[in-house]
Amino acid sequence: MAKKKIIITIDGWSSCGKSTLARQLAKQLGYVYVDSGAMYRAITLYFLRNHVDWTDPVKVREALQEINLEFIFNEASQVSEIYLNDENVEYVIRDLVVAEKVSEVAAIREVRSFAVAQQQRMGTRKGIVMDGRDIGTVVFPHAELKIFMTADNAVRVERRFKELYAKNPNITIEEVKNNLEMRDYIDSNREVSPLRKADDARVLDNTNISRDEQFALALQWAEEMIHHQK
Ligand code: C5P
Repeated sequence: MAKKKIIITIDGWSSCGKSTLARQLAKQLGYVYVDSGAMYRAITLYFLRNHVDWTDPVKVREALQEINLEFIFNEASQVSEIYLNDENVEYVIRDLVVAEKVSEVAAIREVRSFAVAQQQRMGTRKGIVMDGRDIGTVVFPHAELKIFMTADNAVRVERRFKELYAKNPNITIEEVKNNLEMRDYIDSNREVSPLRKADDARVLDNTNISRDEQFALALQWAEEMIHHQK
């Protein structure tokens, strides 16, 4: 008999390694991985490029009508990459220019409704791992497995710095630290679906554990939930 599929949500602070874990789980279980942060980043990129005044809800609504987001699996890199109106923007959206504005854009009600509706459609057939900030609380409040990730600030800054420095050696650790702190602050204090742990989420603090240990633990949780399904 085919195994029942579940929905796995991974939320948490910026640069906790959510996407690494989500990808590993999806690969192991044969599930679809969706990086919801990429959607907010792609919307932000569109707003920046087209000089959209996002303080004006009418302008925001008009702009959103021009945006088409799609994830397409890249066989070579084995990851789903995001396309903004048929352009692959998977790499440009990681720039600090986008990171500086994304939390401001993601706090806009219209933007969230637009992204959440699409995220929920992607989960209708289950068999999905989605990471973000509000996935267990708002997007899939009935998900079978919810994980909330956290790690010490210094560890998170160091990890993100290494990642960004490899692409841009001009970046400083101060810039990275300020960006993470700012995003965490805006994400957890915004009015619409702020970042918080769902009451039924399991906490995974990866400050002192390896990627392999973290993966083994999360996979064990997932297998337990899958076997629970009737
Ligand atoms: O996950 P990532 O760091 O790429 O997300 C970028 C930003 O998108 C976050 O800092 C947050 O402002 C926003 N975001 C969100 N809700 C999600 C995922 C991301 O508000 N579900």
